[in-house]
This record gives sequence, structure tokens and C-alpha cells, in this order.
Amino acid sequence: MQTSAEQEGTVLHADLDSFFASVEIRDDPSLRGRPVAVGGGVVMAASYEARAHGVKGAMGLRQALRLCPDLLVVPPRPHAYSEASRAVFAVFADTTPLVEGVSIDEAFLEVGGLRRIRGAPSQIATTLREQVRERVGLPISVGVARTKYLAKVASAMAKPDGLLVVPLDDERRFLLSLPVQALWGVGPRTTEKLHAARVRTIADVARMQPGELATLVGSGAAGHLHALASGHDPRPVRARPSRRSMGAQHALGRDERTPEGVEIVLLGLVDRVARRLRTAGRTAATVTLRVRFGDFTSSTASHTLPRPTAHTQVLLDATLQLLRGRHGEIARRGVTLVGFQASGLDDQGEQLLLPLTSATDPGLDTALDAVRDRFGARAVRRGVQLGRGERAHMPTLPDDGDEA
Ligand SMILES: [Mg+2]
Repeated sequence: MQTSAEQEGTVLHADLDSFFASVEIRDDPSLRGRPVAVGGGVVMAASYEARAHGVKGAMGLRQALRLCPDLLVVPPRPHAYSEASRAVFAVFADTTPLVEGVSIDEAFLEVGGLRRIRGAPSQIATTLREQVRERVGLPISVGVARTKYLAKVASAMAKPDGLLVVPLDDERRFLLSLPVQALWGVGPRTTEKLHAARVRTIADVARMQPGELATLVGSGAAGHLHALASGHDPRPVRARPSRRSMGAQHALGRDERTPEGVEIVLLGLVDRVARRLRTAGRTAATVTLRVRFGDFTSSTASHTLPRPTAHTQVLLDATLQLLRGRHGEIARRGVTLVGFQASGLDDQGEQLLLPLTSATDPGLDTALDAVRDRFGARAVRRGVQLGRGERAHMPTLPDDGDEA
């Protein structure tokens, strides 16, 4: 990987290798080097040794055992996976402020602008892998490229436990050599159609007229595929705001508009939200105070706690501190409303999802049901819902079809 810093893209795609299985192997060294599957009736994740026998995610256990009679089947431990995910995302956050989580074990990181502090993207990726290994004890593969799409393809090709940098001057060759299945959004059915038309590689797609491609896959998909095949992928890495938050607000009556009055109202709001958090079994990482002034403009201030919590007192202390920083302004401008919001919510198991390779996979619904039965309906969200369509499959590349 002889690339100089200027020749590298700044998007990292970091993806844990057979995540659930790796956590089990980490916690029980006797599993190391053996074919391991995590699951009950259905395989949720398989170690690389198990994959070598053809075992993969969403496969029925009976079939898996037929393929690999020595398969060691471990029941899933959602709590351990949530914990590991949290720790890995903490490493991501320490790497760059621009992290876009894709799923429980996968994220895009934008590292442009960090060169002077942390070095070239490939160095940052190397450090990231070491950190995940040291701090969490898990193997993670990273792809480095100019676009999210290429970074994702690169991480898939780097597996297991690898790093692949797509240098800018080699990007085109890399892209064109890929099989059509590697295009985001090309599933088994589209692959079949393309193969029937002798379109096998991305080079073949790039050579086609858009109209020609449209007759094969429809005009919407054609535009999208053509753009990807030409190396256009304008989607930036976006740090997603927390999907969930809980809050409450209160319009202040005349007699509540004193510093003490506001504090008492805030106590009530924080207590109410904290109780909701505890009832839901959640914790919050960040508190936000909203104040609406006498002129109806408003301002917010946030504080991220050293540890996520649902304790009323801890949440209240942090929020009161934010409020006290505003007493002067409130005295000057008056106050008509206060609001409190807890965000960065987290809980056990809720983020678990089962990213399967294809929505048309007949095993999918069974697999999802198995997970739902075990973890409750909220444990499962389809990959497309989460990734808004970006998280399609990438079947052919090394067979980390990427089930967690
Ligand atoms: Mg993964």
C-alpha cells in the first residue's frame, strides 16, 4: 500500500468482521479457530471457519449443521453485542467527529481535515483498527476511498481483519474490475438480468448507453447504476443526529418567571423525562436545555454526560448548570418557556438488527421472526429502513455478506 497522503480519499468504511460470532469468540477463547455460529433456529452470524463450510447468516440451523457437522452453536447475547457496539462507536468518536453509523457494527467516517493532527487516512485507519483491537478485542476491517460507495466495497474486500486503500489514481481500474453485483442496489434478480445481457463487470455497465441499461433494469435504477459505475457518488458522510430523544417543555406562568421558579419547573420536567427513560429501560448521553425568551426567540444549550444515565439527579445537575449559565440573559430578556430534552438514548438490544444480504432471500422472514421472538419486535429493523436504501447488499465480494 504505497500511497502518499495526497493520493488517498478521506472516507473510511469500518465494519466489524462477523460481529456476533467475534464477540462470542473473544469471550470464550475455546471457540477460537473453530466453526462457530450464533443463533437459535437460524444462523445470525457465522465465524469465518464456519463460512468456509458454506454456513451463512439467515440459514436454518439444520441446514448449517448438515454443511458443517462440527459447527458450534452459541445462543445470542444481545447485551454483550450492544456493549461491544457502544465501545466500538466510542473508538469511532475518538477518531473523528464525523461518524455516520450504518448499523450496530458499521460506520462511515470522514477524516479529511485531520491530516495534521492524525496523519493520512490510511494511517488513521490503521490506528483505528489497532484501537478497536486493543480497547474492544474485536477484528474490524476498514476501506479507505474517495467515496462512501468505494470505501464500502473496499472494506468488504479487505475482510477478514484487513485494510484496503483505494488510491485515487487507481480508483478507476479498481471500480471497473468489480462484478456487477458489487454495485449498490444490484440484487440477485438484477444480476440475473444483467448476466443474461452479458453485462458482468462494472466496466460493462460503464460502457453501456444509459438507454440500453434502462431497458434492462428500469430508468431509475439505470441512472443510479450508471452514476456509480462512473465513480460518481456525491453522498457526503453525515453525522446522523440521534434517532431518538425524549423531552418535555413548559410554558411559564407569570409567577414562574423567576430564577427559582424556572428551576422548579425544570426539576419537574427532568424528573418526568427521567422516569420515562427508566420505564423504557433507556439511558441518555446528552441533556439539552431550551429557553424561550420574552421576545419569543429561543436558544438551546447541550451537555454530554461523562456516562449515559437515567438518574434524575445527574440529569438535573447537568441541566441546572446549563440554566445557571443563562441566568443573566434570562434576567435581561425575560423567559416564557423552558424545555428539557434527553438524547443519545441507548438501551440493550434495541439497536440489534440482522443485516441480511437480500430482501428477496426466502430465509429472511424466518430469520427476522426468529430474532423477533428472541429479542422482541423492536430488535429488528430492516436494513433498508435504517440505511434509507443505501444499505443494500453486496453479495459477491468476499463472502462477508456482512451478517453482523
Ligand atoms: Mg460487519
